[in-house]
Amino acid sequence: MSRVPTLEDLGDVSGKRVLVRTDFNVPMEGADDARIITDDFRIRAALPTIEWLTSRGAHVVCASHLGRPKGAPVAKYSMAPIRARLAELAPGVELLENLRFNAGEEANSPEFVASLVKNIDMYVNDAFGAAHRAHASIVGPPQTLPSAAGRLLQREVEVLGGLREKPKRPFIAVLGGAKVSDKLGVIESLLQVVDSLVIGGGMCFTFLAAQGYPVGASICELDQIATCKKLLDSGKSIHLPEDLVGLDANGNFATFGLRLPEGAKGLDIGPGTAAAFSDVIMDARTVFWNGPMGMFEDERFAAGTRTVAEAVAATKAFTIVGGGDSAAALAQFKLDDEVDHVSTGGGASLELLELGDLPGLAALRGAPNVR
Ligand code: ADP
Ligand code: MG
Repeated sequence: MSRVPTLEDLGDVSGKRVLVRTDFNVPMEGADDARIITDDFRIRAALPTIEWLTSRGAHVVCASHLGRPKGAPVAKYSMAPIRARLAELAPGVELLENLRFNAGEEANSPEFVASLVKNIDMYVNDAFGAAHRAHASIVGPPQTLPSAAGRLLQREVEVLGGLREKPKRPFIAVLGGAKVSDKLGVIESLLQVVDSLVIGGGMCFTFLAAQGYPVGASICELDQIATCKKLLDSGKSIHLPEDLVGLDANGNFATFGLRLPEGAKGLDIGPGTAAAFSDVIMDARTVFWNGPMGMFEDERFAAGTRTVAEAVAATKAFTIVGGGDSAAALAQFKLDDEVDHVSTGGGASLELLELGDLPGLAALRGAPNVR
């Protein structure tokens, strides 16, 4: 894989209009026409790249998506509150309206790409969380403009790319969360890279079902059971829960073994499992964690995720956490400073680990300044 260009590869940026694809998909709350940003971390995270450009005399035009407006303007997903915050943090920097207000963004339409690059001299992608999607703002501008990865994207490529090349072993991946079928897809390739997989969260129920355990009313993807059987039979090391916590058929908190009664829902790994997973994490030398072990937003089901987070914080291994909710869980437990790298992309980090490349990176490598 040839090198992904960085800001230095842009040459002289003075007097240039630079389009910066940022990930300003920030958490917000409040009425649709008076949204309030609840955490501006993603805006602040873009400042090193923005300031590198502005301090060298460039005029920066940022562009981002926000939520899933489905190709038409909706007040709830207006960039106005983000534009106001950006004006405080980086005066003089422009921010375009939500990219996904135009259907051409997700469809990667040439007309939308043309409108994005109009009156623009250079392009920087700093939106790792969107770099696995072949959307207009990700793959379009580098076709014609000198382009580079911003600092956030550059660091993601260094850390996650490095994991594929020469990880310290044992290298383990801890997977959980709710996007079961998305993540099951990458497990097969992840198994080629890691020494063992640790599986909790909603995903574990499809594996438990594949082993013949009744999973009650837990999330389970019936059409993926065969895939899970195949993975379990592959002889690779896969750690699954040995006990579970959740709600019984009457909605009361309950502890279970691996057989869930009818109507019962598994919502967290049990204490025995959490301790066993923590041992595996402490013995590893590289740990990649994506996806909470349970429905941690509810304090009753946060213990498994907390124990795993504490082990990830305490282990001597090189630790990488990917995924919005996993990062939120770490922050909730005040452990986010204890990991080596918190990735800004969930799907993107898994896909980069799996494939070693992303559409957004390939586009940058093909830009006219590096071709
Ligand atoms: P990430 O954003 O870290 O990639 P996901 O978006 O895949 O993670 O999943 C996060 C969500 O998964 C959380 O909202 C959590 O409540 C939910 N979750 C985890 N385990 C379970 C479970 N057993 N049943 C239902 N939801 C779960
Ligand atoms: Mg998520």
